[in-house]
Amino acid sequence: MSKYWSAIVSGLTPYVPGEQPKLPNLIKLNTNENPYGPSPRVLQALAGELGDTLRLYPDPNADRLKQAIAAYHAESGITAGQVFVGNGSDEVLAHVFMALLKHEQPILFPDITYSFYPVYCGLYGVEHVTVPLDDSFEIRVDDYFRPNGGILFPNPNAPTGCLLTMKEIERLLLGSADSVVVIDEAYVDFGGESAIALVDRHPNLLVVQTLSKSRSLAGLRVGFAVGHVDLIEALERVKNSFNSYPLDRLAIAGAVAAYEDVEYFEKFRQAVIVSRDALTSDLQTLGFQVLPSAANFLFARHLRKDAGQLAADLRARSIIVRHFRLPRIDQFLRISVGTEEQCRTLVDALREILG
Ligand SMILES: *Cc1c(COP(=O)(O)O)cnc(C)c1O
Repeated sequence: MSKYWSAIVSGLTPYVPGEQPKLPNLIKLNTNENPYGPSPRVLQALAGELGDTLRLYPDPNADRLKQAIAAYHAESGITAGQVFVGNGSDEVLAHVFMALLKHEQPILFPDITYSFYPVYCGLYGVEHVTVPLDDSFEIRVDDYFRPNGGILFPNPNAPTGCLLTMKEIERLLLGSADSVVVIDEAYVDFGGESAIALVDRHPNLLVVQTLSKSRSLAGLRVGFAVGHVDLIEALERVKNSFNSYPLDRLAIAGAVAAYEDVEYFEKFRQAVIVSRDALTSDLQTLGFQVLPSAANFLFARHLRKDAGQLAADLRARSIIVRHFRLPRIDQFLRISVGTEEQCRTLVDALREILG
């Protein structure tokens, strides 16, 4: 606290990201990064940008990237003009709060969800009401049919990994025509179906995705949103009142290359899905209850051992998982799916810890 701080800053409760410890030989299963590296074509594209042109500003509209994203989702009929890009989907979401979610009524999101949402509410002065997940930790669409200033949730949800069906999403969209519905699809490539397919039929739908997880580019910071041109224009207005160049030359080139290497993407997302399913049954054998996951992480609780203690015991063996000391989920661990070898090391460690 300092007398130089603005009143807004004094009242902020910032997001606390999963730690990035600088220890060697750590098995890092705490922030849902992809255990596999990015496509070699991405690395090649990045190398190609290292040169004299770095003295020039990048394309403020990142048109090449918007076209690559629209082309990848061509079946949905979207055009580059329906794509908004930003410095990670966190930045895209921040602009969404300012551009589309700040209204008279409070916005709605689940009680158990991405913990950045309430932080943006604090930063932008957006009122919110949390809607409890049901006893199986699923989103119940009917609970969102009430006056609101917008609806927001990840699908699959985080940190549960649970997926809401397209049919339920469409029911929510039809019953919420006066509100923007924002679906944060950070993990959709690991087992969900993208709601981008619904964008053309629903002017109130905005879908947000990131290249951080399924495309192994958390370090490059690229995210995007797809929706009706009117929603995209609102985001562009905020972006161009904030930072005209959110994506640098490397980010644009790397992201375009990631979309061009479809084969690499398919191969490694499949590898993660196979490891996730194997890890699920291994954890169940060890006495864990594991929520059904469509993501690259598992949300699991052990029926006898305290979650905080388990996380500490794993840490002592250089394995880091995420434990949230929050109501309803303080006995769960969120475990990112690692390589086959990392998963094996994790299961061996747990077997030892649990005796
Ligand atoms: C990881 C994550 C993001 C942020 O992704 P970036 O593009 O790296 O900023 C957004 N939403 C959810 C639910 C996430 O898990």
